[in-house]
Amino acid sequence: MGTKGKGLVGLNVEELVAQLNKALADEWLAYYQYWIGARLVTGPMRQAAASELVEHAADELEHANRLAARIIELDGTPILDPHEWGKLANCSYLKPTDPYVKAIIQQGVVGERCAIDVYSRLLALTKDKDLMTFELALSILKDEVRHEEDFEAVLQDLEQMEKRRS
Ligand code: MG
Ligand code: FE
Ligand code: FE
Repeated sequence: MGTKGKGLVGLNVEELVAQLNKALADEWLAYYQYWIGARLVTGPMRQAAASELVEHAADELEHANRLAARIIELDGTPILDPHEWGKLANCSYLKPTDPYVKAIIQQGVVGERCAIDVYSRLLALTKDKDLMTFELALSILKDEVRHEEDFEAVLQDLEQMEKRRS
């Protein structure tokens, strides 16, 4: 960013970049969690579950793109070493050891709820201080809210199916 552009940010830029890098770590871990989950998932409605996972993985990767672009605009350096992802992340990577659809999607719900917290905090941090990062966080938050809803809908469909069978 140019000098006047930088002046628009009324925050400690290093601290802001650190928070954006933590969110970037979350996005990469979420991306991989859904990417691998889509391939492993088994059980009823696996197709519907897998397509949500594939779709969300693509969104998380896009979030990573946008966070990295903002970090660079702020003259920061996006995480250079994937080994940092686990250390910096706000949200835990949930290893899909149980490939059953319910377990995979429940882990997804936990991840999306954590992401909602991350972007809510980023919104609070940037409100009235950095409109561009605020707008980015708001736009990502909208996706995370929709992701939680989508995963919850898969779980509801599964429960209905189980009820009808019993
Ligand atoms: Mg979806
Ligand atoms: Fe995301
Ligand atoms: Fe998400």
